Amino acid sequence: MDEMKRSIELFEKAKNFIPGGVSSPVRAIKPYPFYTKSAHGSRIMDVDGNEYIDYCMGYGPLILGHSYPAIKEALKRQLDDGWLYGTPCELEVELSEKINRYFPAIEMMRFVNTGTEATMAAIRVARGFTGLDKFIKIEGGFHGAHDACLVKAGSGATTHGVPDSLGVPRDFTKNTLQVPYNDIESLVSLIEANKGEIAALIMEPVLGNIGTITPEKGYLEEVRAVTAENDILLIFDEVITGFRLAMGGAQEYFGVKPDMTTLGKVIGGGIPIGVVGGRRDIMENVSPQGKVYQAGTFNGNPLSLAAGIATIETLVKEDVHRVINARGERLRNALAEIIHDAGLDYAVGGIGSMFIVFFGELPSNYTEALKCDKEGYFKFFGRMLKHGIFLPPSQFETNFISFAHSEEDIDTTIATFGDELAV
Ligand SMILES: *Cc1c(COP(=O)(O)O)cnc(C)c1O
Repeated sequence: MDEMKRSIELFEKAKNFIPGGVSSPVRAIKPYPFYTKSAHGSRIMDVDGNEYIDYCMGYGPLILGHSYPAIKEALKRQLDDGWLYGTPCELEVELSEKINRYFPAIEMMRFVNTGTEATMAAIRVARGFTGLDKFIKIEGGFHGAHDACLVKAGSGATTHGVPDSLGVPRDFTKNTLQVPYNDIESLVSLIEANKGEIAALIMEPVLGNIGTITPEKGYLEEVRAVTAENDILLIFDEVITGFRLAMGGAQEYFGVKPDMTTLGKVIGGGIPIGVVGGRRDIMENVSPQGKVYQAGTFNGNPLSLAAGIATIETLVKEDVHRVINARGERLRNALAEIIHDAGLDYAVGGIGSMFIVFFGELPSNYTEALKCDKEGYFKFFGRMLKHGIFLPPSQFETNFISFAHSEEDIDTTIATFGDELAV
């Protein structure tokens, strides 16, 4: 996998016209990223003919793997009928019914184009509904790249050292309050200090943008109780976990019901999508029914909807969660054993089909995650890539197992981790 001539050429050109040479920061792999030519199943192929087992999987959406036939068929069928209408179409009725079936807490919803748009709209709706400006987010939580949420934001923002972005007016984040994950006391005192002023708490129920950090037993239930007692809307940002941990996402997995939910990634089957939804009395405030404005030329676009419907049907038909969650568990157990046998002070995080090796102790929040040896992780990433395994190029991301990852892929992956972790 040493030959990267064409990728280097493309990257040198790209740097002239595209900041950092990439269209999204997490793709900026030093010294240069590989350029993809095609991707099928669990494999991604670069322009120099190298092939990798892919655990980035588009950073979450590709739960069925690359180029899954049923999605491709749905897209082809849709292409024959046009790909943008600017009018309502039957697909949005069908997908909203399906989403409501698995997410009963989503009584009404709007289709947007990205997770970023979904959380931006969710916060606006929550503010419009409550008439309050302040909201709480969890440190290290990532809700897309919009102003109000770029405070101690995870993902590429932390990887590239800009968890608090330049260019965001202080006025736009002064109502963004922060608490550590897995810390109910901090939440209670923050609410106490801002009593009657907080519209919502937005959180990833499982943190997926700072490695994978899972909730301690009872934490989500307590968050639900405290927010309800204080009339604070609880927004679960399930852009990663929705249709990933289970059909009904983390809210089904943990049995905790939020007031509002955002979806994205998996529900578009690899085509851009976002969903903002929640209680009927809240969502009725969205324009044109209510006075909270939200609009978009590409909202509810037929290709995303068709891919989303095909995704849901396949997840059910193939019992995908049972398969990928079992593979996730097998892989995490094997990695933990490798780490233990090699006497490394690393830890395996994750849940369901999500996993990460932390180069340090198992973190329970953002501050602890930052203590991990991220340079050590990045060197390891490079060794894995050389051996044909494409992991996320940052300690602060999550690996995703897809339905296309075979048992043999998992075996190869375990063996390669075994060879490269302890180097
Ligand atoms: C990826 C992500 C987003 C942003 O979604 P985009 O489609 O990239 O805008 C929001 N929230 C969470 C939890 C995410 O992982």
